[in-house]
Amino acid sequence: MTTIISIENLSVVYRTGGEKIYALTRLSLPIEAGEIFAVVGESGCGKTTMGLAVAGLLPANADVDGRIMWQGTDLTKLDEDAWRQVRGRHIGFVFQEPAQALNPVLTIGQQLKEVLQCHHGYRGPALHEKATEWLHRVAMPEPERWLRAYPHELSGGLKQRAMFAIALAGEPELLIADEPTTALDVTIQAAILELVRDLRRVLNLTVIWITHDMGVVQELADRVAVMYGGRLMEVGPVGRVLSRPLHPYTRGLIQANPVFAPPGRLPEPIPGHPPDLREPLHGCPFAPRCPERLEPCETAFPEEVMEDERRVACWLYENVRTVR
Ligand code: ATP
Ligand code: MG
Repeated sequence: MTTIISIENLSVVYRTGGEKIYALTRLSLPIEAGEIFAVVGESGCGKTTMGLAVAGLLPANADVDGRIMWQGTDLTKLDEDAWRQVRGRHIGFVFQEPAQALNPVLTIGQQLKEVLQCHHGYRGPALHEKATEWLHRVAMPEPERWLRAYPHELSGGLKQRAMFAIALAGEPELLIADEPTTALDVTIQAAILELVRDLRRVLNLTVIWITHDMGVVQELADRVAVMYGGRLMEVGPVGRVLSRPLHPYTRGLIQANPVFAPPGRLPEPIPGHPPDLREPLHGCPFAPRCPERLEPCETAFPEEVMEDERRVACWLYENVRTVR
C-alpha cells in the first residue's frame, strides 16, 4: 500500500478570548491511497479540526504543531497561494452543512463550472458538457435542470450530491467529507454512502470520512480511527475494530449505537460527558468515564501498542507487546 497523506504528531490549539482549547494532541495517522478511512468519535473530540488541518482550512486562531506530509511536502507549512494549487485540485472537502460550501446567489452550474474552469481550463461547450457529466456521476437526475437551479431549490439529498460534484470536479486524489450525511434521513444517507463507494472505485479516490456514527463506519469504511478528547484511541481495519474493539471507548461507542444493540436490548449510552479541553490533559481523556480505569490512567497518556494493522492507546495493554 502507498501512503497518500501522513499525519505526524499533529497538535492543534485554538486561541480564543484569552483561553486555549487543546483540540488535537499528537495525532499520527498514515492514510493509504484508495482507502475509505473513517474518523469517529463524539462531539468535540477533534474530528473536524483534523479534517480542516489536512485541507488547509483551519481558522486563523489555530496554532498547529507537527507535520502533514503529502508528496514530500509538509502541508502545515503551505501559504494561502500554495494552498490554492492544492485545495480542490488535489484535496477536496465536503462540509456537513451545504450552507458552508454552496453560494446561495450562484447556480449549481456556475459553481461547478468555476471549479472546472479554474482547475482544468474547460471553456465553452466542453465546459457545459463536463458540468453535465459531473451531475450524472453523482446521480442527479435531469442535470440540465439542476445546473440552472440555485441551492435553495434543491432538497437536502440533492444539495449533498451537488456538493460532492463540486468537490470532485477538480479531480482531487483525496476527498475529506465532514459528516455530510448526518442531517439527512436514513434512506438518503444510504444512497449517498453507496454513491461514495462507487465514486471511490471509478475515480480511484482516497476518502477521509468524518462521522460520529459507528453504523456509518461499518457500512462504508475500510479502516477507522477512534478519537476522543483530541487523542487517537484506536485505529485499525473496520471489521476487526468492530468485532473485537480493544479500547474501552471504542466498546462504549459500539454499545451506544442502536445498529449494534442485540435484539430486544436498548443501546447503552456512555455515561458522563466529553472532557473540557481548556487545559492540556496529561492522562487519558476518557479516564473519568472509563469502566476499566486503572491507576495510571488519570495521570499519564499510554504509549500506543501495535499489532500489524492496528494501534491502541490504553493502559490495559501496558504489559503486552502485541495485542491478540
Ligand atoms: P462535532 O462532532 O461536534 O462536529 P468535532 O469532533 O468535529 O465535534 P471539533 O470541531 O474539531 O470537534 O472541535 C474540537 C474542540 O475544539 C471543541 O472543544 C471545539 O469547541 C473547539 N473548537 C473548534 N473550532 C474552534 C474555533 N474555531 N475556535 C475555538 N475553539 C474551537
Ligand atoms: Mg465536527
